[in-house]
Formats: sequence, structure tokens, C-alpha cells
Amino acid sequence: MSGAHFEETASLVIRHIEELTVAANENEPLWNQTLAQFHKAADLMGLADDLREMLSVTKREVTVHFPVKLENGTIETFTGYRVHHNVARGPAKGGIRYHPRVTIDEMRALAMIMTWKCATVNIPYGGAKGGVVCDPKNMSLRELEHLTRRYATEIETMLGTDRDIPAPDVNTTPQIMAWIMDTYSMHRGHTVTGVVTGKPESIGGSRLRYEATALGVRMIIEEAARHLKMDLKNSRVVIQGFGKVGTLTAILLHDTGCKIIAVSDSKGGVLDARGLDPRKLVAHKHVAKSVVGFQGVTDVTNKELLELECDILIPAAIEQQITASNVPRINPKIIVEAANAPTTPEADQVLQDNKIIVIPDILASAGGVTASYFEWVQDLQSLFWDDEEVTERLRTIMQRAFTNVITTAHKYKTDLRTAAHLVAIDRVAHALSIRGLYP
Ligand code: NAD
Repeated sequence: MSGAHFEETASLVIRHIEELTVAANENEPLWNQTLAQFHKAADLMGLADDLREMLSVTKREVTVHFPVKLENGTIETFTGYRVHHNVARGPAKGGIRYHPRVTIDEMRALAMIMTWKCATVNIPYGGAKGGVVCDPKNMSLRELEHLTRRYATEIETMLGTDRDIPAPDVNTTPQIMAWIMDTYSMHRGHTVTGVVTGKPESIGGSRLRYEATALGVRMIIEEAARHLKMDLKNSRVVIQGFGKVGTLTAILLHDTGCKIIAVSDSKGGVLDARGLDPRKLVAHKHVAKSVVGFQGVTDVTNKELLELECDILIPAAIEQQITASNVPRINPKIIVEAANAPTTPEADQVLQDNKIIVIPDILASAGGVTASYFEWVQDLQSLFWDDEEVTERLRTIMQRAFTNVITTAHKYKTDLRTAAHLVAIDRVAHALSIRGLYP
């Protein structure tokens, strides 16, 4: 590498590190927020100090810096992470995110959330998360493939069907999972389908995995509606985020009879009080790369969208969207967290005071990881299920988890987020205790 090239690369690394620092400073760090939620539940259940200490740290963290040759011939150094929070109940499970604002703080928090999510629905996994600081929207397919294969190689010591099984998250796709699976398999000398989930079906993906997070969101909304004696027909729904989860949630709820009155993506939102047709919006987004510009509707900003009058608000974009500053103007009947950690603890308290029901991420969006578990089981057995079997197994798990959380909320006279944490922490703490301490 020439001296000039080296300096250029070094300045790129520094730029990445500066971006990370900016991202970490803008909000209350997500890790602090996630930890505060853990301690709130731990206090309520009287968790022993040693278990509390073990669970308030991550188990393993890897940071990697790696070069990728871009289409224009230059070499850019990228930063990536993979974090395991806890693996007492099974292999680490969690998505991989490609985003310019990925930070180690965010990875730690999302890994811990995955531990609680898997335990809330009682599937045999611990929590992980990974990500690469990059802007995939400005990268070619070939650049994305090179980045993915090199990142997968760099974190490979963490991965394995019985160690850590990644899945898609923000800006990552079944194709990206296929490249990870292929890279890992090439290094092993044989095909290892079970090392990732959310793959295409042609290489061991499960029926309905792509739809599963949204299917789970709908199942949980149906359970909540039954519980609250709320009629879903014509209930007004607002969805922030029109990606994999937001799009399918909009379509499923539309088909259930709900009125999708507004949706948004990172570029802005659209509103139609008479109800939007989500399939037409998908077709529009396919061409325009955003919901913005859809004909015959009112444009809204993301800020305005969250404050619209509605019955069901579904954050399905990124974390820390409902905050102390906008929560006084947010007033739906229920909030269903399809995104991970979209609500800050300050905002959560205000929502509780205002008697707004919040169905937390670790319950509401657990359909995705549950179907990932199904995919992994099918890969290990080389025996594949049809749509009906996947749907019915998913329904059983989501309904059971909802009932457990509601029962725990009544028992402890607490909110649903804390109740879900109580269910999850109790399971993880029990696994840790019964396994005992090595050596
Ligand atoms: P995605 O990348 O497919 O979609 C994200 C969407 O959010 C895009 O439409 C994007 O434009 C939009 N967005 C990004 N920043 C935004 C902002 N500031 N305001 C409004 N919209 C914004 O990602 P996804 O897989 O649909 O994941 C969405 C959320 O759901 C994430 O929080 C993710 O962690 C969570 N989640 C995903 C899955 C899954 O199976 N994919 C499972 C559980 C939880």
C-alpha cells in the first residue's frame, strides 16, 4: 500500500470513529436505557446481586476493522461489531445491521434485548447483535457482497450453528444472509445451512420467515384487542418505518380490516385519513425508493407522523423515536413496538401515566426470532415445514408469551414492559443458577 493510500485509509478510519462518537453523544446511550429497564425489573423481582452483576454486562464483544475494495478502485476500511450478551439458555441469536450510525453501545443494548426477547417467548437462545458502520444505500451489490463476506470472515470465530446464528436486521436481506452462509461454508469445506437464518428458501430458509415478524406483530395486536375488547375493524393505524417489518405489518393489518392512515420511511411520511392501500404504496416505493411522492395523500414529517391521532401506533423503524420531547403529544390507545427500543424510559413513564398501553419490543417483535428458531430447527433436521405448520407453531408461542406477560403484569401490578422483563430475566437467571459456576 502506498504512503498516500495509507493516509487516505487512516483518515477514513478516523472519520468512522468520529461518526461513532457523534452518534453515541446525541441521545442518552441506548445501553444505559436498556440497563435501566433491566434494573427496574431486577429490583421488582428481588434478583440476587451476583446474578444481577452477571447479567448487567455482555459476555463477549468483537470489534473489527477491515478493508473492502470499492467499484472505483479505492480501498475503504470499515468498522464492524458482533456482541454476545448471554448464552446461558443456548446459542447467541441476533440480527446484523448495516447503517452509518451503528455503534458498539447500540450493539450491546440490542444484544441484551435479544437475550430478553428469546427468553420472553421461551426459545432456547441467548442474545447477540452485530453491525457494520456503512451506508448500504450508496453501495453497489458487488461492494455489499465483498463487505459482507469480509465481515463474516472477521467475526467467524463467534459464529456457528451451536454458537451464534445471525439473521437480517435494518438494511440486511436474505441475500446478505446467503453470502454469510456461503462464506462460512466455504471455510468449513461443507455446506452449513444452520449458521444463519432469514436465508432464501432455496438454501434452507423457512417458509414465512420473511413475514414472521409482521405476522407476530399482528398476532399480538389480535391478542391485545381481545384482551382490551377493542374492535380492530376500521381502527386507525400509524406505522413509522416502511421496510421489511413495516411494509408487511401494514399489509397484514389492512387485510384484517384496520385502516392504515399513515406510514413513513427515512425520507418522510404520507397520510390519508380515509386509509391507504399498502400494496399500492409498496409498488410506489419500489419505483420512487420512498413512500414520499405517493399521489392523492398529505405529506407528513416523521415527527408529525408519531403525533397523529390514531388507535394503534407501530414504531417499525429504529430505536429512540418516542422520547421525552415528543411523548406529551403522542396519544394512541396502544403502542406496539415492532422496532427494537423505540421508546426511551422517560417517555415510557409518561405513557404509563397517561394510561397508554405499550406492548414492548421483546414481546411484540419476537415473531421474527421465533421463526428464525423454526428455520434453525428445520435446517438441523433437514426436514421442512409448510406455511400452516409454521403459522400454527408461531401462533402457539406468541399467544403463550402474551398470556404469560399479562399474567405477570397483573401479579406484580406493573406495566407490560416490566412484566415481559420479569418473565425473561427469571428464565435466564434460573438457567444461570442451575448450570452453576465454571470452573
Ligand atoms: P428495514 O431496513 O427493512 O426497514 C427500516 C425502515 O425504517 C425503512 O423503511 C427506513 O427507511 C425506515 N427508517 C429508518 N430511519 C428512520 C427514521 N428516522 N424515521 C422513519 N423511518 C426510518 O428494517 P426492518 O428489518 O424492517 O427493521 C425495522 C425495525 O424492526 C428495527 O428496529 C429492527 O431491529 C426491528 N426488528 C426487525 C426484525 C426483522 O425480522 N427484520 C425482527 C425484530 C425486530
